[in-house]
Amino acid sequence: MSIETPAPAPSDFIRDFVKADLASGKYKAPHTRFPPEPNGYLHIGHAKSICLNFGIAREFGGICNLRFDDTNPTKEEVEYVESIIADVNWLIAGWADDRLGYKAKGAAPEKRAGDFYLPAVPITNCEPFYASDYFDALYEYAVQLIKKGRAYVCDHTPEEVDRMRGAPDRAGEPSKYRDRPIAESLDLFARMKAGEFPDGTRTVRAKIDMASSNIWLRDPLIYRIRHAEHHHTGNKWCIYPLYDFAHCLSDYIEGITHSICTLEFEVHRPLYDWILEKLDLPRPLPHQYEFAKLIPTYTIVSKRKLITLVNEKLVTGWDDPRLPTISGIRRRGVPASALRQFAYNIGVTKYNSVTDIAVFEHCIRDDLNKHALRRLAVLRPLKVVITNLPETHAEQLDAINNPEDETAGKRKLPFSRELYIEQDDFAEVPPPKFFRLKPGGEVRLKYAYIIKCDEVIKDATGKVIELRCTADLTSKTGGATAGRKIKGTIHWVSAKDSIEAECRLYDRLFTAAEPDADGDFKKHLNPHSLEVVTAKCEPSLADAKAELRYQFERLGYFCLDSDRKLTTENRKLIFNRTITLKDTWAKEAKKG
Ligand code: ATP
Ligand code: MG
Repeated sequence: MSIETPAPAPSDFIRDFVKADLASGKYKAPHTRFPPEPNGYLHIGHAKSICLNFGIAREFGGICNLRFDDTNPTKEEVEYVESIIADVNWLIAGWADDRLGYKAKGAAPEKRAGDFYLPAVPITNCEPFYASDYFDALYEYAVQLIKKGRAYVCDHTPEEVDRMRGAPDRAGEPSKYRDRPIAESLDLFARMKAGEFPDGTRTVRAKIDMASSNIWLRDPLIYRIRHAEHHHTGNKWCIYPLYDFAHCLSDYIEGITHSICTLEFEVHRPLYDWILEKLDLPRPLPHQYEFAKLIPTYTIVSKRKLITLVNEKLVTGWDDPRLPTISGIRRRGVPASALRQFAYNIGVTKYNSVTDIAVFEHCIRDDLNKHALRRLAVLRPLKVVITNLPETHAEQLDAINNPEDETAGKRKLPFSRELYIEQDDFAEVPPPKFFRLKPGGEVRLKYAYIIKCDEVIKDATGKVIELRCTADLTSKTGGATAGRKIKGTIHWVSAKDSIEAECRLYDRLFTAAEPDADGDFKKHLNPHSLEVVTAKCEPSLADAKAELRYQFERLGYFCLDSDRKLTTENRKLIFNRTITLKDTWAKEAKKG
């Protein structure tokens, strides 16, 4: 396989901040992080964030951490943790170098002068980070805030807290526990930790400003009681920090310099800064930057909605090749390099907009065209008999593996008296400009001869079941009439040499460009998003390799399905169609 040529380093407003911070000497190198919550599988939107965070680390000689933002035990699972690790590994593997990935090479973050609590972060090669590993530290930080009079234990129920928070145009109502003595808050917090109180009876809140125009600064919750087992810390804790408290401090603990997230967190940034500043942590502090989410057309990228599709069995699982999950995209046969190229091409902005999925499809075709091995397969076979060849005819033709890549070489393609061609490549009553096979007409068989259709054989229902043809035996490469011009060239396979394979033909999962625009995405599911056919394939595909990509000539790009269990049990080859050769939706759009 050829090696990816590095794309020119992209440029955007976040990279401009990084450059400026390096130029001013604020940081020696950027340290970013990708912080998924393990409450679902990663999707194409996360791929944008991964490419941005790992990409910046790579381009500027920094480090990027994979960190699980696992502060909500009731929604998180080990299955999600494992899938996320696999997905991130896959996406960044082609970029492999030491600074990449979450290989922080055993280097625990330096303890900075004046820091009152910094845990030893357990870093081993390739180990991801977990916010839950900092629960002891986070607890201590919360204690510090209480001691500084910047946080308090509140006994209002979550519903009361919500109601008392006010509205953008109306100040909130202070908790009656706001001014309780520090010692009392400290005692209650310790007892919350010890498990003395049931869920929902008490919280710890930052003491900021109940009249702030920013609702997130109206004494936000920083700790709550949850008697729940955690996938990483087990039953050690029954109090859990909230996102806003855990996130800035996890960034700080790991020495993150640029904390990059999506736009909806812009309003949380004052709180992010407030917590770090009020704890008097030594500088430099991490800084949060926000960019626009990736929202592609014809799909959905919300974990909650993806979970609905999976749970209601509207797809076969999280790695259904029709889903925009990274696992689905991988299983469908999209190379990681195509996904990374897409993330580069769409860029990073501060404005929310919808991205045409055709941009992604273009990146996939472009990548596969360069690397895919050409093969012949017939999805919907129609038998052709070459009547001027003997039954015993057996010939091995030369076929080129990849016209885009000379090093891919050639292979032998068996040719015999009985062949299969695509049903669509024959028309008894051809429409105008039909340059394929018709009664009395001629067509070239790729890598082989020109054939002429002499006779059409039908079954009792009138269905065409066989074509009887004669071949111009001098029309092969090197033959006397090899140069004869014929408008159509079609693909074929030799019937007796062919092997069968199940081909799964995928189409877009939704028929609407913005399936969620009316809030009812299930209504827009494409009933034809999967078609399964039994194809006849050239024999070399018996040795198809999972890591290789194939172009079935004139049909599209295919890869072996990763469902190995099924493949070996049924002794059946299964191919996924990654994508068609051309954008069939663009044609539809023009017609419509
Ligand atoms: P969802 O909205 O799909 O549930 P999330 O934001 O809750 O996703 P997280 O696991 O919290 O998912 O996301 C991890 C990181 O990926 C965050 O920094 C988040 O901002 C980023 N991210 C999530 N969705 C997108 C997207 N569509 N485009 C770009 N980045 C995204
Ligand atoms: Mg989230």
